[in-house]
Amino acid sequence: MNNYLIIGSGLSGSVIAQQIVEKLNGKVLIIDKRNHIGGNCYDYIDKDTNILVNKYGPHFFHTNYEDVWEYINRFCEWERYEHIVLGNNNNKIFPIPPNISTINLLCNENISNEKEANEWLSNNKNNYNNIVNSEEMAKSRVGEQLYDIIFKNYTYKQWGLYPNELKPEVLKRIPIRNNFDNRYFSDKYQALPVKGYTHFINNILNNPNIEIKLNTDFFDFKKENNLDNYKSIIYTGPIDSYFSSEGYEKLEYRSLNIVFEKYYNMNYYQKTAQVNYTGLEKDYTRITEYKHCLNQISPHTIISKEYSCDKGEPYYPILNDRNINLYKKYQLLAENLKKENIHFIGRLANYKYFNMDQAIKNALDYFENHIKY
Ligand code: UDP
Repeated sequence: MNNYLIIGSGLSGSVIAQQIVEKLNGKVLIIDKRNHIGGNCYDYIDKDTNILVNKYGPHFFHTNYEDVWEYINRFCEWERYEHIVLGNNNNKIFPIPPNISTINLLCNENISNEKEANEWLSNNKNNYNNIVNSEEMAKSRVGEQLYDIIFKNYTYKQWGLYPNELKPEVLKRIPIRNNFDNRYFSDKYQALPVKGYTHFINNILNNPNIEIKLNTDFFDFKKENNLDNYKSIIYTGPIDSYFSSEGYEKLEYRSLNIVFEKYYNMNYYQKTAQVNYTGLEKDYTRITEYKHCLNQISPHTIISKEYSCDKGEPYYPILNDRNINLYKKYQLLAENLKKENIHFIGRLANYKYFNMDQAIKNALDYFENHIKY
């Protein structure tokens, strides 16, 4: 008999399952409504091109957490990968995050060192006493001109909201560089799983005490099974769906429509793995070309264009006042269930814009603090 039930086999659910088995010697049942494990990290090899692609859009692992890096290395081999992103605005091409080259290209400057870059930034950035939204966050770091070209319209396409309608933390994710470093992330560890994320998560779950039932919706499962049989229940889906009978409004989650295009007998479609289209001339936000990752060899190539939308599979919590205040109400309901050993974990259940390493860290810490004992 399984004594732990986990809903969702994404990163959070999988890490919790692994910890329960390893540290509590428990037996876990994981259910997932999709026909595969891995949540939005799921990847597979495209048969026509033999290239590994992410079904739900690109995922680039990066972290400064030593414990997370050690943890993930237990389950598969990782290869150092430093992600490079170019911006394209009306065919003007520039590095993202903004660095000295970005300023020179977009603002017709001729900056050559950190001192000049710092001077330019301090002359151009706006000053605020108290930053209350993402527009102010970006302008306080790069000023109006770069804000307009890099952040304003990309953010509108991504969220259906302008940066002044989003919390500062959304644009705070993007660093600003006073040097020529053109890497998207500057974390100590930046890597990709050599055989893909599905392989990695499959290895996390590969244990006789973990049973996985795919194509199993929790709300149907609940009707047919007595949940009191489980010592703990760990729910990693959207928190508002769990409490849908409470009568609160629904939380908003942003979704993506990922459209793949294959190009036969083409070496590369674009120069880097990712190009962000930061203007309104294209309705997609970014194009990812997977062949740039892990030195994949194929005579063909495959790209994905990301169109952001408000309906569909939930990907991102939308961090504005309305949703954050509403989430607090759901959080109270969730807190009350902790004493009944029902736990809410992960990007969708915690309504947090977690990176992969934060999702893993959060799951490891949550296990130690709330499930272990
Ligand atoms: N962003 C932007 N222009 C860019 C890249 C990012 O305006 O070229 C903004 C946008 O609002 C985006 C946020 O910064 O949602 C965070 O970007 P990140 O690359 O972290 O997004 P993710 O990879 O999580 O989709």
